[in-house]
Amino acid sequence: MEKLNGLRCRECGRHYAAAPIHVCEFCFGPLEVDYRYDVLKGVVTRESIAAGPPSMWRYKDLLPIEGDVAVGHHVGFTPLIRAQNLADELGCREIWVKNDSVCHPTWSFKDRVVAVAVTKAREFGFDTVACASTGNLANSVAAHAAEGRLKSYIFIPADLEQGKVLATLVYNPTLVAVHGTYDEVNRLCSEIADKYRWAFVNVNFRPYYSEGSKSHGFEIIEQLGWKTPGHIVVPCAGGSLITKIWKAIKELKTLGLIDGVSTKMHAAQALGCGPIVTMIKNDTDVLVPVRPSTIAKSLAIGNPADGYYAYKTAKESGGFGEHATDEEIVEGMLLLARTEGIFTETAGGVTVAAAKKLIERGVIPRDESIVLCITGNGLKTPDSLQDRLDAHVKIKPSLSAFDRALADLKSQTS
Ligand SMILES: *Cc1c(COP(=O)(O)O)cnc(C)c1O
Ligand SMILES: [Zn+2]
Repeated sequence: MEKLNGLRCRECGRHYAAAPIHVCEFCFGPLEVDYRYDVLKGVVTRESIAAGPPSMWRYKDLLPIEGDVAVGHHVGFTPLIRAQNLADELGCREIWVKNDSVCHPTWSFKDRVVAVAVTKAREFGFDTVACASTGNLANSVAAHAAEGRLKSYIFIPADLEQGKVLATLVYNPTLVAVHGTYDEVNRLCSEIADKYRWAFVNVNFRPYYSEGSKSHGFEIIEQLGWKTPGHIVVPCAGGSLITKIWKAIKELKTLGLIDGVSTKMHAAQALGCGPIVTMIKNDTDVLVPVRPSTIAKSLAIGNPADGYYAYKTAKESGGFGEHATDEEIVEGMLLLARTEGIFTETAGGVTVAAAKKLIERGVIPRDESIVLCITGNGLKTPDSLQDRLDAHVKIKPSLSAFDRALADLKSQTS
């Protein structure tokens, strides 16, 4: 099946053959994978998808892979959970959690983008993969490079959480800690990508990488029984995930797998790094870069590559956006854990906090269906809770000590 037209410029529409390139030579617009929907229509059906594997690869026909899947065979198809306790707490009718905090193998949705990018790097004959990362991408590129027996160079800001650093190093990549912000790391990586023939998953492979995010969106719709929700709240860093979930929903419409599209896409960011949400609130398509200062380090991109498209997605879909303070982020993490038994990282705290504010402000009506994208696992960022949580009682190993402690506890809470 000849399903790809190659790449296409998102701005001027010029076509390019499929290659490890990401910028249009004529207008400097970003390139995007271009599919032949005429070929795919009728071939990709609800039945053909259901007959596929229980992973993101049930959507392989809608991803830019032409040969066999090389790495990440078990990525995706994460649970979509009806979060009734959370809904009750927020006074809502229907909330769902798309739980990529348990995405295999590195516990974030980044496994989806990396599985596509690394497979594509192998198709193009690269022996080295690389990335600029705010943490989760580092974990995932290192893991998939190990699986695919490729060399990897991982570039991170030096102040990244220790949990994310160790969960990268364990896979034996070459880790380069740069004294600077993510945006400075990323700029350096653009220069390195020009000089060395490496597959930078989020630079020269960005058109392929970003397509992997569509699978998060496809799965939400399939798991809702091929129905589109009223609202999806998405945490944004570079702005790719929200853009690609929206693209996924529109593709399902194009292919006739859903009837209509009425979902509103909402962007969630930290107040200390929220340039996309600021664009949405100010209703301007001009992005003003910021210098990040937030505990949500996985979202700390001050100059997001797809910021403009993320803004357009919220606007075009009729959605909005909201910021969360560091305090609200922690409250969001604790709320999800307390109500649903799901421990997400700071990015998930941003999603929950932003959704709560959008609901309280009436932007998201309480009687409409809401999906929260929980994109990463809390065990990677325990630092954010370090000073907040401690054992309730500390005792010697004796029954009488416990009896006294229990009596004290009860008197405190009564
Ligand atoms: C990278 C990341 C995001 C945001 O992804 P973009 O596509 O860059 O907007 C959201 N959540 C987590 C946990 C991430 O690691
Ligand atoms: Zn162009």
